[in-house]
Amino acid sequence: MSTVAEQAGGSLPTANSDVLEVRDLVKHFPITRGLLRRTVGHVRAVDGVSFRIGAGETVGLVGESGSGKSTVARLVLRLLDRTSGSIRFEGRELTGLRSREMMPLRRRMQIIFQDPVSSFDPRMTILAVISEPLEAHGMTDRRVNRRRAAELLELVGLSAGDLDKYPHQFSGGQAQRIGIARALATDPRLLVCDEAVSALDVSVQAQVLNLLRSLQRELGLSYLFIAHDLNVVRYISDRICVMYLGQVVEQGPADALLADPRHPYTQTLAAAIASADPAVARAGGRHVVRGEIPSPSAPPPGCRFHTRCPSAFDLCRTTAPESVAAGPDRLASCHLLTGADRG
Ligand code: SF4
Repeated sequence: MSTVAEQAGGSLPTANSDVLEVRDLVKHFPITRGLLRRTVGHVRAVDGVSFRIGAGETVGLVGESGSGKSTVARLVLRLLDRTSGSIRFEGRELTGLRSREMMPLRRRMQIIFQDPVSSFDPRMTILAVISEPLEAHGMTDRRVNRRRAAELLELVGLSAGDLDKYPHQFSGGQAQRIGIARALATDPRLLVCDEAVSALDVSVQAQVLNLLRSLQRELGLSYLFIAHDLNVVRYISDRICVMYLGQVVEQGPADALLADPRHPYTQTLAAAIASADPAVARAGGRHVVRGEIPSPSAPPPGCRFHTRCPSAFDLCRTTAPESVAAGPDRLASCHLLTGADRG
């Protein structure tokens, strides 16, 4: 039986070329108290997230801190177990697979962290850092690994002469290039970039984003690109998913979504970049989001955004909006899009 959202046109078609398809993904963390660790509630970090990533495509996942973006990243990579929902990678369902069954798939899905230096052992040479994932997957021939590490360093704009140096000898931008080289070592198809440029200066951010784009073209990679900064996300993304308090409230092609954001929260994010972009500023009428994001352990009833939404009306406080079609290849969850009676 189809869901209400599907009946209303609120689901995106699946293409055979999808590298990743996430459907109704949920992750609730129990809150426990007392000696017996009784469960007294749940943190609803991810609550019904669906999106897909095609071959060679970048999907940006954007939202404030606390929106659940990084939890989605960890669920996709099976670093966390989901509460419910489906994760299909290259057509194969990942949920329920055992660690041993996940091993060959892990080679094909890698992550780039925000702070690569803290994920490197400072006592390891760059050769050892890049070889680590190769060895973890049984590729232990040192001569082959050295040659592969040298190729990867050159691919990311560093030099084979850097192989015997240590992490502290590199700048933040260079360290992120090493992080990318390490992620590429196992020849992945999907890279999850979790705030991968957030800690870098703006000029260095642009260099690393350009590197990611050229690697994508050269290697046919797909990216799940996670960031709180819509400016960064729009630069690299083909499609954007906007997350708020554990849910995707709007998604669609990046250009269309930014030219005409349909959800009030997306409009507030667009407002944040308005000052940096005269074209967005000219669109006018954007408002600045007010207040703090509520706790995911006690999300507001109805539309989760209603406590901060300048357009909220009575229905918003009691009834969660369905995800509905909001244009070609676009979805959004807002009562305003369904012509609900504002009373
Ligand atoms: Fe705002 Fe209501 Fe739309 Fe939620 S459903 S975004 S509260 S107008």
